[in-house]
Amino acid sequence: MKLAAVKGFRDIQAGEVLARRAVLEASCKVLENYGFEELELPLLERVELFQRTVGDTSDIVEKEMYTFEDRDGSTLALRPEGTASLVRAYLAAGMARSQPEGRFYYRGPMFRRERPQKGRFRQFSQIGAEMLGRSDPAADAEAVTLVADICEAVGLREYSVELNSLGDDACRPAYRKALAAWGEARIDSLCEDCRSRLQRNPLRLLDCKVESCREAMQGAPMMVDSLCDDCERHHGRVKELLTESGVEVTANPRMVRGLDYYCRTAFEVTAAGLGSQDAVGGGGRYDGLAASLGGPDIAGVGFAFGLERMVLAAAGQEPGAPPVDIVVAPLEERALGVVLGLARRLRRAGKRVEVESPSRSLKAQMKRADRSGAACVLLVGEAELEAGKATLRDMVNKADHAQLIELDGDAEQVIKCIGEAVKGGA
Ligand SMILES: [Zn+2]
Ligand SMILES: [Zn+2]
Repeated sequence: MKLAAVKGFRDIQAGEVLARRAVLEASCKVLENYGFEELELPLLERVELFQRTVGDTSDIVEKEMYTFEDRDGSTLALRPEGTASLVRAYLAAGMARSQPEGRFYYRGPMFRRERPQKGRFRQFSQIGAEMLGRSDPAADAEAVTLVADICEAVGLREYSVELNSLGDDACRPAYRKALAAWGEARIDSLCEDCRSRLQRNPLRLLDCKVESCREAMQGAPMMVDSLCDDCERHHGRVKELLTESGVEVTANPRMVRGLDYYCRTAFEVTAAGLGSQDAVGGGGRYDGLAASLGGPDIAGVGFAFGLERMVLAAAGQEPGAPPVDIVVAPLEERALGVVLGLARRLRRAGKRVEVESPSRSLKAQMKRADRSGAACVLLVGEAELEAGKATLRDMVNKADHAQLIELDGDAEQVIKCIGEAVKGGA
């Protein structure tokens, strides 16, 4: 029996790995320019961490987490997201007291047992950032600015940042009630999911994609129109700061995010080329999260991008494999040791070198060398061994320089000699 990968889990091939690395490197660079430091967090956490933060009524905790009972009886979960873990780590390190203002980012795989869909996997990767200890609107504005700059650096085409406010404990409860009442009055038009969300999480009614639900929620009250004075002022200032600093955002009063911990500012990035599920990332403010983990009342704002979705949205500029610089071709089994030594020295000097196999004919070796795109081949046969010098074949100008390269020369000397010969042949 052939063993297949687990459903929803996949292998990532070399070309995509390079594309992912390019997106990650571009993102990390921007994050570090903004003063964020990377933390590495565990993949396994206690299930309570997500129950208390992401929320018992969220889709994630209700039906998407991978959990299991450990041998000591505790229930563990493969992390479905990063914010809760990061705040836990921040509290565990005592930073709430020693340096409450912190900027951190993380990256790596997350796990959610979602319904299988095209382009959606149960193991996916995120890169996320959190700004802790800041409750002022400038932090929200900076987070949104950072999000836009990451999109630019990664080369997302036609992206847009949508902004909303989800209110806080002072104004959201009344709004939830009003929204639930609105839904209750139209319950016959709601899908199964929305009916079950009606009392527990009515905000989710706003972003249901089912057509009859969308129609039923047309004209429903919006959170942005029901904000208390403090939330109103905060939201207004965030918008003002973004306008003044030249960051374009679109107001989306229906955007609610799937997680319970958000308050006030919420944002989402959508990009072209992703179909109906067009979000590449999102985030928002989560002032109550640290306290819900038993820590002090530390404010926070952050976001996460889905790496797979970023790679898709940035497609068209996929990097190829790094080019081969030099091919070394041993024409005799006897030449192999010398050739491996030479290749090693060149690699240590930073060159990408491919070593051919003496079991292949010269013709086959040259054909492969040609395909590799290398500018030159160092040939070592009987005569070259005798002379202690490799023949250099200039692949660009199709010219041979017989016994030119010292087989035991140091890398710098060899590289210089190749450079002169290949240039001189032109
Ligand atoms: Zn619905
Ligand atoms: Zn409020």
